[in-house]
Parts: sequence; C-alpha cells; structure tokens
Amino acid sequence: MENKSWTVVYRNRWTNQTVTAAVLAPTLEEATRQARANAEVNGCKNWRIESIEPHEETLARILITEFAKEQEGGHFACPRCGKMAMDTESVTRNALSRRATVYICDACGTEEALEDMLGNRMPLVAWAIAQTPELWRCE
Ligand SMILES: [Zn+2]
Repeated sequence: MENKSWTVVYRNRWTNQTVTAAVLAPTLEEATRQARANAEVNGCKNWRIESIEPHEETLARILITEFAKEQEGGHFACPRCGKMAMDTESVTRNALSRRATVYICDACGTEEALEDMLGNRMPLVAWAIAQTPELWRCE
C-alpha cells in the first residue's frame, strides 16, 4: 500500500501544550504505531497523541478556518454543501458546524447531527469549499 501523509497532534499531559508532527504511513493504524514509536524514541512519556488525521484533512481545516474569518462580513454559500442556503441576515443565525468553527446551513447542521448518530462522518476534504476553494475567494 502507498504511504500517505498524516498529521499528528501530541499534547503534553502536564503543561497542556500541543505539538504538531507528520508521519508517513499507508494506514491510520500504522500511522498511530509510528507516532507512538516516535514519541518513545524521543523519551516523551508526557506527551499523548491527541489526534491523527490525513494531511489533506488538516489542509481543509486550515482553509475552512481562514474562510470562517471572512464569513461574518459577507454573504457566502454554505461552505459544506456549496448551496446559497445560508441565513443572510446574520451568519450566527445559521448552524455552527460540529467539525470546525464555522457556520453552515441548517440542512448541513442536521446532516452532521445524523452523521454523529450513525458514526459515519463526512471528511472536511469532501466539503464544497475544500473541493473548489477558488470560488470562495470572491463574493
Ligand atoms: Zn449546507
């Protein structure tokens, strides 16, 4: 299997500080094993793995976080489904995503709640904004 790039976030159990690192591995299991091994090699017993996600997912999260800063000042499509389905009176009247700090349309808010119930989450890379980021740069 081909290696993929994974983003690992470690958190220090005493200071609460976080550190981000990368590992190359074909699967999440292998990435987790490597991340643990790397922490041990460095004698980092106080660091626990907080999260491991595909690198594309991290990039999508950064993109969405950047967009969230603009969101309050303009009328944009829903970043998750890409439809002009947002309440435009005030962005805060829309649903707050459970996946990132950004507002999404009510239909997407409901979908995310259902995903959590079914335990099957849509990755951030599948969001409309991650697939066509250039469309979100202009109003
Ligand atoms: Zn939506």
